[in-house]
Parts: sequence; structure tokens; C-alpha cells
Amino acid sequence: MHLSKRILVTGGAGFLGSFLCERLLAEGNDVVCLDNYFTGTKKNIAELLDNKNFELMRHDVTFPLYIEVDEIYNLACPASPIHYQLDPVQTTKTTVHGAINMLGLAKRVKAKILQASTSEVYGDPLEHPQTEAYWGNVNPIGLRSCYDEGKRCAETLFFDYHRQHKLNIKVVRIFNTYGPRMHPNDGRVVSNFIVQALKSEPITVYGDGMQTRSFCYVDDMIESFVRMMQTDDTVTGPINVGNPREFTIKHLAELVIKLTGSKSKIVYKTLPSDDPMQRKPDISRAKEFLNWDPQVRLEEGLIPTIEYFENILSTK
Ligand code: NAD
Ligand code: UDP
Repeated sequence: MHLSKRILVTGGAGFLGSFLCERLLAEGNDVVCLDNYFTGTKKNIAELLDNKNFELMRHDVTFPLYIEVDEIYNLACPASPIHYQLDPVQTTKTTVHGAINMLGLAKRVKAKILQASTSEVYGDPLEHPQTEAYWGNVNPIGLRSCYDEGKRCAETLFFDYHRQHKLNIKVVRIFNTYGPRMHPNDGRVVSNFIVQALKSEPITVYGDGMQTRSFCYVDDMIESFVRMMQTDDTVTGPINVGNPREFTIKHLAELVIKLTGSKSKIVYKTLPSDDPMQRKPDISRAKEFLNWDPQVRLEEGLIPTIEYFENILSTK
């Protein structure tokens, strides 16, 4: 028998959060979606508002919260470099104070808590592919530090709450994920390239385009979160979740041009500072502990993503 749970999703009106709320509702749970709408939007969860098991709460995770829940997915935090660099001090507060508040809540109500950590904890990695045992190569004072160091400190807090207070924690390190509902102006590479291609504007490749990333489709990612939450108490992570197929950014640009049938040309721009040169997850742990292996190939996942952006551009 499936017992329904009361689940809090912070950052639930964002890209990943909205898909997660949808999935948890579909499984018959009560879902409380918390968001301050910094990068998320009510449009992302508009279709869920009529569901009697869904509750929307405007709240900023940097402030304490008291609510009775069984599980917490802590996703609240801007994810794209443009957004998290807009107000870097706030980004560190969101990651660190947000983690303290949500961990405090989990402790009080004895909830299980999952942290959406990131491959950015590895910085510009000197080990390739990245395993969870790698400690990373992170600039503590650069433009990305508010996010990278904030997320690293959040991991520290999770593991200290686990050791000190016996909290049931789950930490996943998310690698670049894409899909419908990404913010069209958030500056991430997949959304940027698709929007540029659809508008017949130049495709802006930063640097020489030889830097690599490994792109995971949103459905695969959400599956990994749910599986992680369901693991037994001994599994804390960190566990890398991402698609290990690695591509150069130039290849991605060419693929987007091909799939959209665009006449856009590639232009090369300056590489932003501290931009990692390579990124690819070693997902052996995810395979072992979650029995999870991403199924959606980049070419397949880009199609619904392109359709989504076609729709929103045509309704604008
Ligand atoms: P997103 O920007 O679409 O979603 C983040 C959500 O958090 C938004 O709805 C935003 O309004 C909300 N938020 C931000 N600050 C908040 C605050 N102080 N209080 C309450 N809500 C707040 O980004 P996303 O891609 O959905 O990312 C979700 C999580 O996954 C983030 O924690 C991000 O760091 C992590 N992550 C994502 C990726 C990726 O490729 N998408 C990669 C690594 C890690
Ligand atoms: N990038 C690019 N053109 C763009 C946006 C991003 O060439 O219009 C590059 C960026 O420099 C980085 C990669 O694409 O090397 C991934 O960038 P994104 O911001 O999506 O994620 P992250 O750097 O956090 O992995």
C-alpha cells in the first residue's frame, strides 16, 4: 500500500522544482511548494493549482519556517550564473541560511531532507570525469564563488547535522540539466542557444567552444531525486546525478542549429572568468545506490525543449 506523504519542495516554482512537484503529486502525495519567485514563476506550476493536494507558499528560505512535513527537497537557489551573480550576497545567504533553516526544520519535525547540490562543488575540475571522492578545484573569491562556496558550505551543514543530530540527509550533486520551463533569459547555454536559433540571431559561443559539459534531460533528473529520497537511512550521498555523455559547447551549438533548421551563425565571445573547461560525472554511485542511469539522449531531449521555446516565443 502506498502511504501518501506531506512533502515540502523549496524552489518549487523553478525549472526543476515544478517538475518535481508534478511528479510527487502524481504519486498521490501532499505537496507544499515554497518559492520567493526570484527566478521561478507561477506559470510553471499553474496547472497544479487546482489540485487539492497542492499548496503554494510565498516564502524566502533565508527566513525560518515552521511547517509539519515528512520530507523536504531543498532546491531553492538561482541556478544560472547570470542570476546567481545578480545579487551574490543574497546567493550565499540563500544557500547557507536556507540550508540552516531547512535543516533546522527537518530536525524539529524529524523529516528526511534532500539537498540539491551541484557539480560546481568541483569548480574547474582537475580530475576527469568527476567522482564524489574528488574535493574540487574552486576559486574562493571569484565571480562564481557565491554559488560554489555557498553550495559547498550547504553540504558541510548537511553532513554536520547528520553527524551531530542524526538527521536523515540525502545529498545529490546535479550536473547540467535542461528541458522545458528553463527561463528563456537565464543565460544558460541550452536555453540561450535555442532562443537565439529560433530568433535567427547569432549563436554566442563563449571562448573557442572546446569546453565540455554533459547534459541531462529533466525527466531523468527528477527520477534520480525521487529514487534518492527513497533510499534507506544509510545512504546519505553525496551522489553525482547527471548524464555522462560529454559534448563540446561548439557541438551543442551545431546540434541546436541542425534541429531547429536555423540560419543562425556561430559567433565567438569572451569566456567568462572561472568557467570550467570540462565537466562529466562519474555516475557509478548513482548506478549502484539508485539503480539509475539516464535514458534520454541529448538529441531526443532537445526536441521537446525546442518545442517549449517555440511556444513561448510565438505567444509573446
Ligand atoms: P531555477 O532558478 O529555475 O529554480 C530555483 C528556484 O528557487 C526558483 O523558483 C527561485 O525563485 C527559487 N528561489 C531562489 N532563491 C530563493 C529563496 N531565497 N527562497 C525561496 N525560493 C528561492 O533553477 P533550477 O535549475 O530549477 O535549479 C534548482 C536547484 O537545482 C538549485 O538549487 C540549483 O542550484 C540546483 N542545480 C541545478 C542545475 C541545473 O542544471 N538545472 C545544476 C546544478 C544544481
Ligand atoms: N555558454 C556559451 N554561450 C552561452 C551561454 C553559455 O558558450 O550563450 C557556455 C559557458 O561559457 C559554459 C557552458 O556554455 O562553458 C555552460 O554554461 P551554463 O551557464 O549553461 O552552465 P555552467 O557554466 O554553470 O555549467
